[in-house]
Amino acid sequence: MHTRTKALVLRAVDYKESDKILTLFTQDMGKLTVSARGCRKKGSPLAAACQLLVWSEMVLYDYQGKWSVKEAAAERLFRGVRDDLDRLALGCYFAEVAETLAVEGVPSPDLLALTLNSLHALDRLPDRPLALVKAAFEWRCMCLAGYEPLIDGCAICGEPHPQEPLFHLSEGVLCCAGCRPQVGEGIAMPLNGQALAALEHIAHGDPKRLFSFRLEGEGLRLLADAGEAYLHTQLERGFRTLDFYKSLQTGPEAPAGTSG
Ligand SMILES: [Zn+2]
Repeated sequence: MHTRTKALVLRAVDYKESDKILTLFTQDMGKLTVSARGCRKKGSPLAAACQLLVWSEMVLYDYQGKWSVKEAAAERLFRGVRDDLDRLALGCYFAEVAETLAVEGVPSPDLLALTLNSLHALDRLPDRPLALVKAAFEWRCMCLAGYEPLIDGCAICGEPHPQEPLFHLSEGVLCCAGCRPQVGEGIAMPLNGQALAALEHIAHGDPKRLFSFRLEGEGLRLLADAGEAYLHTQLERGFRTLDFYKSLQTGPEAPAGTSG
């Protein structure tokens, strides 16, 4: 059976002499593992499209339940991501999170659009801080995965503008510092007014304008720290690609052997 679909390469592993095994995020079939035969041979027409983080139109064929790439035409290479190690590392983290949330055989158009928009932001919006792009991706991912944060007011007393607002990671709710003991055990992280306004935009705004907000300094730091911790708490795991991205942020003291 042949099928034509658009697909983003979330993971690419070399296989045999000249093949790759790809994990695709397809428009029509959700997550899909395929083999790309001969794509590492010199001059292969599949070569460009079978690279990590490339968006392509593909013709796939299925033989006894195993999918292969028959034809592929790259549409977006996201060169600005590829040419910058920090952006590439962050793009790989987005791909690993998307791979965790995407389901085989089930299309997830919103999650696919979020992943592509986030790569686009890394590629074409150089004035947006990477911490802002990362935070918006993480919080929006949680909304799409069924963990929309409840931020309308304090979950205990109902105060719409809590003093010293805290976000409880395992409950996914906002509370005032005074109501904190009643939310229960677990970690609650501080936010502030600016971070909450940005979170409101991320969770409830137009997804196409996800990255069109300004936030810097303390507000961005609080939003970013809580977003990352929330995603990891709810998904109950860490991400190898994130560890690598963070090792780049620590500058000259990064452990040897983490580059290249
Ligand atoms: Zn309260």
